[in-house]
Amino acid sequence: MKLLVKAGLLAIGTGEQISGGWLLSEDGLIAATGGGLPPAADQVLDVSNCVVMPGLVDAHDHFYQWATRGFATNQGLFGWLTALYPLWEGIDEEVVFAAGRAAAAALLKAGCTLASDHHYVFPPGRPGIFEALVAAVGGLGLRFHPGRGSMSLGRSRGGLPPDRLVEDEDAILADTERLISAYHDPAPGSMCRLVVAPCSPFSVTPELMRESAELARRHDLRLHTHLAETLDEERHCLERFGRRPLDLMEEWGWLAPDVWYAHGIHFTNAEIERLGRHRTGIAHCPSSNMRLGAGVCPVAELRAAGAPVGLGVDGSASNEDYDLAGEVRQALLLARLRAAMLGQPEAAATMDTGTALDLATRGGAACLGRDDLGTLEVGRRADLAAYRVDDLAHAAMPDPLEALVLAPPRAAEAVVVEGRIVVRNRRLTMADEEEIRAHLLRATQILRRWAGV
Ligand code: ZN
Repeated sequence: MKLLVKAGLLAIGTGEQISGGWLLSEDGLIAATGGGLPPAADQVLDVSNCVVMPGLVDAHDHFYQWATRGFATNQGLFGWLTALYPLWEGIDEEVVFAAGRAAAAALLKAGCTLASDHHYVFPPGRPGIFEALVAAVGGLGLRFHPGRGSMSLGRSRGGLPPDRLVEDEDAILADTERLISAYHDPAPGSMCRLVVAPCSPFSVTPELMRESAELARRHDLRLHTHLAETLDEERHCLERFGRRPLDLMEEWGWLAPDVWYAHGIHFTNAEIERLGRHRTGIAHCPSSNMRLGAGVCPVAELRAAGAPVGLGVDGSASNEDYDLAGEVRQALLLARLRAAMLGQPEAAATMDTGTALDLATRGGAACLGRDDLGTLEVGRRADLAAYRVDDLAHAAMPDPLEALVLAPPRAAEAVVVEGRIVVRNRRLTMADEEEIRAHLLRATQILRRWAGV
């Protein structure tokens, strides 16, 4: 199956741009790119009024939170979590399916082609949750790296989550093994790769962190967890273990190139240097960090040290706007504000627009271990997003790619994943958005009645 994409401007993602360029995808792979007369194909996607660029990568998320948006709106992380845990106890496969479809729909419409979802809430007696998540996302055509998350340290043992919401550690490890055999596809071009993802240092025991790392490495899977998000977390680690969060991670086997952390805000300069040396990645989540008042990720320093940095929307309960294209602009502005607050005179040069786009494409692909994605070079998978730049929102700006960063598009005109058109004319091709909205509303109402909120 050959798909020809005709672009107004084809941005390869390496700095190379072809005006009036085209891209030919064959069986999910980019077979050729060029300008001038395009080759023949079975199907043509004419987006010659658009910039065509690599699809965006969402490196950190919690899809189920689509069912619990807009709560605890004036809290920091620990207060927000404590307020939401009782509501999350009510999720089941139906809620997760409805929320997973809503999240995948919103991501695709923003131009995202690969997302990693960190799912760590498995209430007792509610089977089928992870299965529902994978089915929901697969049905919309989004490339997916779901993380089998976990919480095992309840409040009675010094953790933050209620005891009712934590799982037995042997059961967690056995279930992770089961899901790997059911869903993990290591092949090139894979549409589904699993991630081993214990939740955080304040909701998991050291034993589970160590055993999760061993399990992931036995299967050649990547590892993901929250780290250095807040000063509360840092205090928790110092009080409980007498060690800083990154020291604990290193002790537990989690400072390595197959690991990426969500947030990565509160690091010392020496810790940033260690992260870079070990090529450990960070998923930067600017809007969520601002919503919860967590702090600002030192993106420029991490990149300079050699650590891959991607971009995440985070769950929509801490980022209700949930716009991955908008996060690119947030990352740029926040980096410059941080530099200015630190008294660096060249603050405006801290992050340029090309670097901001790079976080959302190559940076995210590197965090997720996908060297077959992230640019539109020949031989990579055909994952791309097309954005209009001839509308009023972008009119009269000289550089279309800079225009997309500084005035983020509300929606992608078209999105292709693995050579298949999954968004066209700003609409999903594999599902009905109105049906997704109605199902989310129904599932959310049942959940809220159950929780009495
Ligand atoms: Zn998170």
